[in-house]
Amino acid sequence: MVRGGLNRVLVVGAGALGSNIVRELIKEGFVVGVADGDFVEERNLSIQRVYDYKDVGKKKVKALKEMFGNLNVYDTFINLDNVRDIMGGYDIVVDATDNMWSKFLLSIYSLREGKDFVFGGLRGNEGLAGKNVCLMCNLPYEDSESCAETFTTLDTALNVANLEVEMVRRISRGDRESEILYYDSGEILSFRPLPCSDKHEDFDIFISRQKAEDRGYIIVHADEVDIGSIPIDKPIAVYCEYGIKSFKVSKKLREMGYESYALEPVKICGYTHSYS
Ligand SMILES: [Zn+2]
Repeated sequence: MVRGGLNRVLVVGAGALGSNIVRELIKEGFVVGVADGDFVEERNLSIQRVYDYKDVGKKKVKALKEMFGNLNVYDTFINLDNVRDIMGGYDIVVDATDNMWSKFLLSIYSLREGKDFVFGGLRGNEGLAGKNVCLMCNLPYEDSESCAETFTTLDTALNVANLEVEMVRRISRGDRESEILYYDSGEILSFRPLPCSDKHEDFDIFISRQKAEDRGYIIVHADEVDIGSIPIDKPIAVYCEYGIKSFKVSKKLREMGYESYALEPVKICGYTHSYS
């Protein structure tokens, strides 16, 4: 089946949500790309059933490519330096990541690049899915939880993946209206989100580690910022594990007159991202 209209879909993340979303979208005839730099791990097989024991140790995108063939793969985590390029060839961007920073990055850049945006999230028996929602306007970034890799169930993951697929179907049929679905143990509630009211330029306080190093900025952990010892005339790049504390600290430094940036997080949910 070949689809018309908005049919090119980029799925970011190939874990419990993403692997199922990719499988379903390919089955339904969408042109699909998937981005993830992670490996298949045995400990995750119980909620990532698209993968098998034979896939353990392989890159997730490689395993999916072997399964489905007709799939564009990006063997990388999404970051500030690659997000525009990777989403460039697609109509719809689907968030299937497991961390808040990546979700906000995808939300903001989808809006800026004029892409339809679908997101999903999991926690325990609960989940959220939605389309064309500005996460910055609807979830307070500075109060967001650092890491979404909490306990979840196979059932919840499958149901939320299905809701995200349904969001993609609706967009491809021309229903691009903003909506949020809340899932709790089989019940689904629908919400009308707040419209986007800002360009969210404050997110541009984030820069890549590479850029900060190339420009010779002082790089300091958010917990170790010592105002007394930082020269006011040198740019500072603040980092932390999840990109929330660094955001707050560098905003504060700007208010104090420093040229300050936040590094995009290097470690998300326990594994280290490589931005090389
Ligand atoms: Zn907004």
